[in-house]
Amino acid sequence: MQYIVLDMEWNQPWPGSPSSRKVLPVQIRGEIIQIGAVRVTEDQQVADEFQIMIKPKYYRHLNRRVSKLTGIKESRLKEEGVPFPQAMEQFRQWCGDDIVFLTWGFDDIGILRENLQLYGLQTSWTEKWYNAQMIFNAQTDGSTAQKALKTAMEMSGIEATRQAHDALGDAYHTALICAKLDLKRGAAEYDQALKSHENGFHGAELPGCICRQVFYDFADKRAALSAMAGEENKCPVCEGKMLGSRWFAQPGHRYMDLATCPEHGKFLIRVRMSEQPNGLIRVSRLTYEATSEAAEAYARRAEKADPEDQRTTRRRRRRKAAVENVKE
Ligand SMILES: [Zn+2]
Repeated sequence: MQYIVLDMEWNQPWPGSPSSRKVLPVQIRGEIIQIGAVRVTEDQQVADEFQIMIKPKYYRHLNRRVSKLTGIKESRLKEEGVPFPQAMEQFRQWCGDDIVFLTWGFDDIGILRENLQLYGLQTSWTEKWYNAQMIFNAQTDGSTAQKALKTAMEMSGIEATRQAHDALGDAYHTALICAKLDLKRGAAEYDQALKSHENGFHGAELPGCICRQVFYDFADKRAALSAMAGEENKCPVCEGKMLGSRWFAQPGHRYMDLATCPEHGKFLIRVRMSEQPNGLIRVSRLTYEATSEAAEAYARRAEKADPEDQRTTRRRRRRKAAVENVKE
């Protein structure tokens, strides 16, 4: 078995440009334009390197922000870039069989898979991978925050000898970090590390967020929402069952609801759904204090709902309450 430390650069259409309105057969977050990879042997020796430029087919105009960050010019892509399927063939050949990918962050493998799917190519060879950030965190300061590569290099005492934001440069520096970690132990403990990351905070939550949890394997959206309002709707203080009022849909498969614990009052619940690779639904659930900014947003949204709609909801709620009283 060998580790392949992978880093990629990808292009995105300029917001509002004709490219950004293109509907592709497979939705991609970015079109890969450069792949850099470094092999790390099973006994953690940094070995050979691979780099390739890819000529974009869907977003041909290089986003100037991407160009500035990566230093890649459109003319270079035109000259050196090879079509994606051909690049993948070369890359796979270089990787060999029995490989485990290591990436710095969660994005690369997902974007690689999206690009493969867009071209109707196999993705099964990308199945085994670890986010090296998680292993690094677990074996250094134990934090759940995602660290920049530069920060991790400083923490590991590694001097930058290659260009940053160049796929191979970043892959090489990542490989140096990985070589200093206990990768075998990291892999074994990865699931635990991932869980503590998922259930930890990311710094992206709004103020007033008191709890973050992740749930898996719901058959569909409806089942997920009903669990979120039902058996999984637990008070963050006493873990007793809370009552929900009404889900409001928000952009990006997000929903929010104001839930009430008879003992501890109201909490705003925000959930975001995503599809797991097996087609089932994963839910990320955030609980906010009712006095938080997020809860105020809920109140504003609830006000906007048309009065007729609200009356119906109130009636339904009263009826529901009546039913619950009878049960008690
Ligand atoms: Zn409670």
